[in-house]
Amino acid sequence: MGDFSEHVLFGFLTAVLIAFLTKNMFSFNPFESIASVIAVFAGSVLPDIDHKNSYVHRAAKAVVSLVSASVAFFLPISVQYQYLLYVIMLVCVYRIIGMMEIRHRGFTHSISFCAIAASTGVTVSVLTLGSALPGVALGIGLLSHLILDDEFKME
Ligand SMILES: [Zn+2]
Repeated sequence: MGDFSEHVLFGFLTAVLIAFLTKNMFSFNPFESIASVIAVFAGSVLPDIDHKNSYVHRAAKAVVSLVSASVAFFLPISVQYQYLLYVIMLVCVYRIIGMMEIRHRGFTHSISFCAIAASTGVTVSVLTLGSALPGVALGIGLLSHLILDDEFKME
């Protein structure tokens, strides 16, 4: 169990510890370091996306609503209607997400989620930055979250 700042702090502590233990195995360029710091941060708070009052959940809800409502701007209607439709869709999507029943400490707090997210992170970071380290850092952040929450489900 931990709140936002505890998860961030514990995520960085874990990452620093692992970086210290493996310091002769890797060398980071500044770009990899920055990307890894962001990845540790993201990983350490990401599992709480299933908690309605968490920062991550609220941020994700806002971003998903804003982005998905943008479909309105691709419709062949006049600009005024596009804006009107955008606002309506924005409110609807936001409300629908708000009504969804999400079980806290469910799938996003499992080893499976951790493995899927970390492998996705490694793939994306290799393809975009040419380095697996930020993806590994994401995995470390995710693991630190599970350790602090004391959750090790397999499902
Ligand atoms: Zn959690």
